Amino acid sequence: MTRRGEFRIIQDLFAPLATAPGALALRDDAALVTPSPHHDLVVTTDTVIADVHFRSDDPPDDVARKALRVNLSDLAAKGARPIGILHAITLGAETDDAYLERYARGLSEDLTTFGVALLGGDTTAHRPAAVDGQGAPLTVTITAFGEVPHGRALLRSGAKPGDLVCVSGTIGDAAIGLRALTGALQPLVADHRAYLVRRYRRPEPRLALGLRLRRGATAAADVSDGLCADLGHICDASGVAAEIFWHAIPRSRAVDRRIADDPALRDLVLGGGDDYEIAFTWPADRRQELTAISTETATPITVIGAMRDISGARAKGVTVIGDYGQVIPVAQPGYVHG
Ligand code: ADP
Ligand code: MG
Repeated sequence: MTRRGEFRIIQDLFAPLATAPGALALRDDAALVTPSPHHDLVVTTDTVIADVHFRSDDPPDDVARKALRVNLSDLAAKGARPIGILHAITLGAETDDAYLERYARGLSEDLTTFGVALLGGDTTAHRPAAVDGQGAPLTVTITAFGEVPHGRALLRSGAKPGDLVCVSGTIGDAAIGLRALTGALQPLVADHRAYLVRRYRRPEPRLALGLRLRRGATAAADVSDGLCADLGHICDASGVAAEIFWHAIPRSRAVDRRIADDPALRDLVLGGGDDYEIAFTWPADRRQELTAISTETATPITVIGAMRDISGARAKGVTVIGDYGQVIPVAQPGYVHG
């Protein structure tokens, strides 16, 4: 394995991506960020670890993209416009030059795609054979900065009884895509497999939607831990309950096909994570605006239920209702970290 030293990794691979003036070409101790006047900085950080949050045989460019995109998804869910990131990487035992070059290319492409500045970071390595003699895992922590006009960020609190519960895109793809990668699914048609795996490896941060939702949504969260778990967070923060309908939850053809083969996979739609869609609540008397928002932002939006007063609801938190009005138990309460 050949791997250049840490100074060269920074200068050869990451400095060329740090073109924003505030990054000071990665040749200073810190970076400068100037938010627009009368804006709040929105700050978030997320770590991805090999074989926990991505697979060590995922393409290196997708690893960089995912590390970035999961953070952008948090900004999207707050209605923020991304500004820049800090990027801390702890090299894995098997992270060689070829890997890092592909990784940096993926990072570079996505920074351009999403208009985000690389402002700085940190580059470290484990001691050889640090973890139980196993190869130490590649670990990436990205901290993302965004901005919103002062006081206008979307929060998890703010949902009211009667609000519609909405979700972008389709749910369950990523969790079932991961099962396809671990070989835990029946063999599937090649294009379904490719679609589901891509949804796991390359989530789509819903930035345009997030910006637009500032003009109306009462609460929002991104769906990273699982639909019911994240909707549950909105319920907790807002002091309301949610009733959602199984038949209304948007699902891809690939997912519906898998569920037809194995009904137990329904749990992965309700409780699996990694979709990075946005769940939000919206005033019922403004429902007709949702179609225009969907078109404007090129983002599918589906109404899946409504918020209820806690006292009038069947249960605390999220209740999923099946085709015959029965309550569907949610088996897996979201992704358990660790
Ligand atoms: P210091 O010792 O002053 O913290 P470092 O040697 O860690 O400096 O980093 C030098 C410069 O390179 C800094 O501007 C830092 O932000 C940047 N940098 C280090 N690692 C990364 C990385 N993985 N991605 C982006 N920038 C990085
Ligand atoms: Mg440092």
